[in-house]
Amino acid sequence: MEQRTIVHLDLDTFFVSCERKINSKLNGIPLIVGGTSGRGVVSACSYEARTFGVRSAMPMHYALKLCPQAKVVKGDMELYSQHSKLVTDVIADSSPIFEKASIDEFYLDVSGMDKFFGCYKWTTELSQRIINESGLPISFGLSVNKTVAKIATGEAKPLGKIEINSKAVQSFLNPLSIKKIPQVGNKTYYTLARIGIQKIQTLSEIPIDYLKQLLGKNGEDLWMKANGIDNSPLKPFRDKKSISAERTFLTDTFDLVKLRTELSAMVEKLAFELRTEQWLTACISVKIRYNNFDTEMKQRKISLTANDNILLNTVNQLFTEVYSRRMMLRLIGVKFSNLSRGFNQIDLFQDTERDIALHQAMDNIRNRFGASYIQRATSFKNAKK
Ligand SMILES: [Mg+2]
Repeated sequence: MEQRTIVHLDLDTFFVSCERKINSKLNGIPLIVGGTSGRGVVSACSYEARTFGVRSAMPMHYALKLCPQAKVVKGDMELYSQHSKLVTDVIADSSPIFEKASIDEFYLDVSGMDKFFGCYKWTTELSQRIINESGLPISFGLSVNKTVAKIATGEAKPLGKIEINSKAVQSFLNPLSIKKIPQVGNKTYYTLARIGIQKIQTLSEIPIDYLKQLLGKNGEDLWMKANGIDNSPLKPFRDKKSISAERTFLTDTFDLVKLRTELSAMVEKLAFELRTEQWLTACISVKIRYNNFDTEMKQRKISLTANDNILLNTVNQLFTEVYSRRMMLRLIGVKFSNLSRGFNQIDLFQDTERDIALHQAMDNIRNRFGASYIQRATSFKNAKK
């Protein structure tokens, strides 16, 4: 396989930096962005807050016990989306192939460019342009694949840059904690730490078959990453305007239970698509067609979200409003538009820790077994018919 050159760009403490850009009083203090209600969680925190042990996804009440003097601001998804788009536009302008991995994170494939320019110099100039045009700090890592580039960025932060060439990959990885491998969560970490594997070097030297026994397919993957191997391709960024689902009934119906169940199933499917592709929607439409072919549509603007509950409630309200005649329906449809790239996560600033954990668990199961495997009770009734 031909040698690749991959750049990972990651905005530093993105939500915090956006807040500081519009309010300089927030500079230099412990700052937490997140849900301010009693059961909210930390969405992001400044380095000053991190020195007190505050971490993202931590319950807010606990974070404030660790750091009572922290200033807490409720997040502003519109602000973050605007800035994310601004940075995306700068990158799209200079790089033909890139992946937007999350609201504040990008991969670029600059393979072959080094014959003409130095990749490191080119990326340095790009990141400087991003800083100038967005007013936000960014770091990058440059290496032979996505995993090593991402780990490198983590080591370079904040406002840092680092290049790990193919010869240096293993010696760069060896002393680092296995926690630095993006796919190692707490559970995997403790499984491995319990048997004495804490450094990437140790992991890279374990027989691959042993890891397969211990962790299944995941173990093989992990071993490859510990050895600096990752052939995963970039998923090119495409702009999307909307996503939608429609259902035409075999026989016209005004069975409200059936109609609402159908809407619920469509919302879940679309919301799952939003979350897996990291989109948020700001406009919801419901369309109906009566059995005389009259078609009516109702739409509503909402704050950016991919939260099932918010989407479903809005869809239900719109359906109640649009379905005004006592006539049978032959079609219903749901559309989410005004999409923005955003978090894999829901209405970050209203959801409680439990909601987020529940959605993540459901998405994990969907990812493993397919989208139809898990559904809410309301849509399940329909699936059985
Ligand atoms: Mg970031």
